[in-house]
Parts: sequence; structure tokens; C-alpha cells
Amino acid sequence: MSAPLVRISTCAGLCSGVERALELTYRAAQEAPPPVNTLGPLIHNPGVISDLKAQGVGMISDPGEADRGTVVLRSHGVPHETKEALLAMGLTVVDATCPFVTSAQEKAARLKAAGYLVVILGEKDHPEVLGLRSYAGDDSLVVESPADLPAQLPAKKVGVVVQTTQSQRRLAELVADLAPRARELLVHNTICSATEQRQAAAIALAAEVECVVVVGGKNSGNTRRLAELCAAQQPCTYHVESAEEINPVWVMGRRTVGITAGASTPPQQIQNVAARIREMEV
Ligand code: SF4
Repeated sequence: MSAPLVRISTCAGLCSGVERALELTYRAAQEAPPPVNTLGPLIHNPGVISDLKAQGVGMISDPGEADRGTVVLRSHGVPHETKEALLAMGLTVVDATCPFVTSAQEKAARLKAAGYLVVILGEKDHPEVLGLRSYAGDDSLVVESPADLPAQLPAKKVGVVVQTTQSQRRLAELVADLAPRARELLVHNTICSATEQRQAAAIALAAEVECVVVVGGKNSGNTRRLAELCAAQQPCTYHVESAEEINPVWVMGRRTVGITAGASTPPQQIQNVAARIREMEV
């Protein structure tokens, strides 16, 4: 009897934007004026959130809750009014907005300034989209598909920006609908490839192993989606937040086990899961 062969997805775990946000926050915990709070949960990973808490990093839900110290803005970004209000209150602001999100915000602002009607492809209540909208102007439109567009566009010059986690397929559908209806159409493809790369690598891995373990917060949308995609490929798929949750029965009799992880899962959590599976005799 031997332990199963463990294969870790070639693209798994923290994306560059979340990794940067974590680095900035841990640095703020050491160096920035206390108390240090994140505005909303920094990432959807309970293990990381409790570690941050142990380092003295708390969380507020509303900018009005902070009366002193430091506020960390998470990788999704915030409406520009929020950042301005925090600075006006005399707080130290650590802006951990992902550079890809900042770039999308800047493009939205440039489109608005150049007189375009800005169409944002994204989920209307998502924090990233609320931030983008503050740059795109009150007259901008947020759509999840062409069905959400008005029958008559209110302008002939249309500019598009996209929530970074949307799919290329959805963008193509939107552009196909807008192109014949606008006199001028300027599309900024602001999709970040991190999500699609993780999904493609996970699907490929799931097709080659006898069991898949997906590591990440149960409240992490991108991790849950990875688990769904893997389960469609390999029914023996399990979503865990930590190594302790692994039931030896899952890997019993399996020769190969694949591991993948969402964009908010640190490398140590992935390695802990791999080590636990490797020590199981099957
Ligand atoms: S998924 Fe992409 S845009 Fe979002 S935080 Fe990660 S790197 Fe940045």
C-alpha cells in the first residue's frame, strides 16, 4: 500500500493582486498607525482572516466606523469618493487595489471625460463594479448581458470596460450586440486572465486524476466555481478550507489526487493539504 500520487495544478492559489494586497496589509500591521482595519474582508479565506486578526488587523464594514488609524482598501477597489472621504477624515489609507482594477478605473474615467457613454460589463452589486461606476459617471450603464441594455442607446459614442473577472465569451456577446447600434464603439478589454487560467488548468488536471481536492474559503466565489468545474469533469471532487477536513475515505483506492485552489488561497494551505494526502496509506 502506498500514498496516492499528488499533483498540484500548474496554476493554483493566490493571484498577483491578492498576494500584493496581503503583503501590503501585513506590512501595515507592523508599520502603519494603529488601529489597522480593512474595509470589508480582505479576502474570502477564514484562515487568513483569523491570522490577520492575530496580527491586530481588524475589519470595518463602513468608512464611518473608522475614527483614527489606518484603513486598507482591498484588491477590488472602492468608489473614488470613499477613498477621498477617508483621507479627508485624516486617516492613513493603504490602497491595495489591484493594479489591473486601477487600470480599468482609469480607462472608465478617460472614456467619461471624452464624452462616451460608459457601459460596464459586470455584476451590478459587486464592490469592483461599484468602484468602476464612480469613475464611469452616474449615466453609465452596468450590464451582465446584452439583454440588460436599453432598446434605444442614450448615446452614439459608447465605451466599454469590464469587471476583471468576467469571461471573454460574455464580452464578445456584448460587443456583438453593441457594434451595429453605436456610431462609435471603443472597447477596453479589462478582463484579468488569472481566473480563466486557474479554471483551464483545473479542468485539465481534473480530467487526468482519480480525485480532486479544491482548497479555499467556502465563501470564496472563485473557489466554489473551480469546485463546480472540477466536479463536472471528475465527480470525486471535494472542496475543503483546510487539511484537517480531508477524510481518508475520499482518497482510498485512488492512485492520483489533483489539488487546485482559488485565487485567495495562500501557498501554505495548499502545501498542508498536499502533505496530509501524501501521508495517507491507501
Ligand atoms: S483576479 Fe486579477 S484583477 Fe482580480 S485581484 Fe487577482 S490579479 Fe487582480
